[in-house]
Amino acid sequence: MSQPLEKRRLGKTNLEVTVFGFGCIKFPNISADQAAAALDHAIDLGVNFIDTARGYGDSEVKIGPVLKRRRNQVYIATKSGRRKADGMMRELETSLKNLQTDYLDLYQAHWVCDDNVLDEALAPGGALEALRKAKEQGKVRHYGITMHRHHTAIRRAIESGLFETIMLAYNALDEEGVGPDLIPLAAERDMGVIIMKPLSGGRLVSPPSSPKPDGLDPVVAGTLREIATNPGITTVIPGMVSVEEVDENYRAITTAHAFDDAARRQLFETIAAMKKELRYGQLCLGCGYCLPCTQDIEIPKVFRALYMHQQYPEDQRFMGDELYDSLGMPADACAECGECVQRCPAGIDIPERMKEAVAAFGRRAA
Ligand code: SF4
Ligand code: SF4
Repeated sequence: MSQPLEKRRLGKTNLEVTVFGFGCIKFPNISADQAAAALDHAIDLGVNFIDTARGYGDSEVKIGPVLKRRRNQVYIATKSGRRKADGMMRELETSLKNLQTDYLDLYQAHWVCDDNVLDEALAPGGALEALRKAKEQGKVRHYGITMHRHHTAIRRAIESGLFETIMLAYNALDEEGVGPDLIPLAAERDMGVIIMKPLSGGRLVSPPSSPKPDGLDPVVAGTLREIATNPGITTVIPGMVSVEEVDENYRAITTAHAFDDAARRQLFETIAAMKKELRYGQLCLGCGYCLPCTQDIEIPKVFRALYMHQQYPEDQRFMGDELYDSLGMPADACAECGECVQRCPAGIDIPERMKEAVAAFGRRAA
């Protein structure tokens, strides 16, 4: 049985947003009519948070006519990737015009991807200055930041206390590795936590022949439920393009209360099996069932660091090294007791992979 769409407080903005929001990143691929129909349907269902960006092609332009009709029913968020205040203020005017409104509920510094970009955003004449000025002028009610991958920069942005919200990519494949500690940290600091890429850009979907017991794709529904039941998360914004997608995601999230530990485990087992089939190899899901380690090794973080070190583009691999260096216990503390292996739904040979981490990182952890 479904429950009404839950609203949560978006951190210190105090806006009450629905846990299911509308991501408009895919709007450039569809007609204006199709975009309007999907948006109208979502708003009819009670969805009250819409997110877009200057960088999403004509997405803002397609949202504009709907927003004009229904401005008081939704909160609108957009972003600018400009690093300097003047560029960001100029883009704000374009966004307001495209969206056919005279204020934004949330304006975000987009894709602040590493420490250098964050430094630039925080420096005099940088993006933060524009965000503050836009708020003073009443063109923006609140402001936030959107970030990917770079743990140190994400942590710095959270700990700075300068932003009201943060948008992070998080999903059960956990490719960007923000899961276990950065989300609770942001929630603790009273930031609204907005989750993008919940379905890993469409990769998290069951194989076509899979049964759909309640008419929903079990991987899609389970993944959304897993995120929606995380208390540190305020809203999840899957990118949607049709009335049907809105309906399916709405049904998944309004039945998330039935998503218990058994369902969570089942989800991770299914995704683990998919990963093997897709030859992703022995990839950690970040689920944490292996913990606690008898030697206090933070197993999922070691694997996250190893993944970054091995798989990220060459100029980003240092992020894996940094993450490993920040851990309290090195991989070579593994006593090969095997306790974690019994609990890992992905069937990872954890002690073997700890040796791989030692080979990759040496003894750099403190
Ligand atoms: S096998 Fe190694 S990593 Fe696993 S619980 Fe034992 S000591 Fe920890
Ligand atoms: S139980 Fe397995 S998949 Fe889950 S976090 Fe631990 S090592 Fe990764």
